[in-house]
Amino acid sequence: HLSARLACVASLVPTGARVADIGSDHAYLPAALVLDGKIDFAIAGEVVKGPYENAVHEIKDHQLEGRVIPRLADGLAAIEPADKVDTITIAGMGGSLIASILEKGKDKLTRIKRLILQPNVGESQLREWLMNNHYQIMTEKIIEEDNHIYEIIVAEPSVVPFRYSKYELDFGPFLLESKGPVFKKKWQEYLQREAHVIDQMQKAQQPPVKKINEINQFLSQVKEAIA
Ligand code: SAM
Repeated sequence: HLSARLACVASLVPTGARVADIGSDHAYLPAALVLDGKIDFAIAGEVVKGPYENAVHEIKDHQLEGRVIPRLADGLAAIEPADKVDTITIAGMGGSLIASILEKGKDKLTRIKRLILQPNVGESQLREWLMNNHYQIMTEKIIEEDNHIYEIIVAEPSVVPFRYSKYELDFGPFLLESKGPVFKKKWQEYLQREAHVIDQMQKAQQPPVKKINEINQFLSQVKEAIA
């Protein structure tokens, strides 16, 4: 049974897709997709031995051998041409790590039709990588589970170069369109935390004025985003 976070990622996988889940740990996501009958082939890539073993066990427990293939490999090196993978999922890592995995594995991206990415932090950097590498953001989701808020970004290669403003990169073009309750909660909480940070800075003997101004500038963007 998937967490709400992984269930949301799963819901964005096209029916019949050939999936590579990179950083799969227990392979919960690809296993559930195959068990649900939504897809019938997936790679579960892991760079660390322990999590790779977790994937091997999960696959065995559900008799998914041959349908979910575990691979011990760094990033997109888990994908082989014969897999005919068309969809990549990467969940539960920082946005800059996800971007570096994509950057390092660029040669494997040529056949990929859809990326479904769930960065824990660093969403802005990840969107920037996508933009700079000719991906178009197709949709975004934001969900809350166990007091954590997660963003999920779906991107597809674009023919025409796509540009996003700094504001859109920071907050997410689709999340800005809907400005839903979870989006507002995420940034409200951010505002509160940063207000506290500024408070502390102002109490210093020599308050870092420049830094405080920078933060305040961004906070006014945040206020605009949730207005
Ligand atoms: N994707 C699962 C999820 O969202 O629940 C597991 C997330 S877990 C926090 C992150 C996993 O990514 C770890 O098991 C880690 O070993 C793996 N990982 C980190 N860097 C990786 C890389 N370059 N290639 C493959 N796996 C990687």
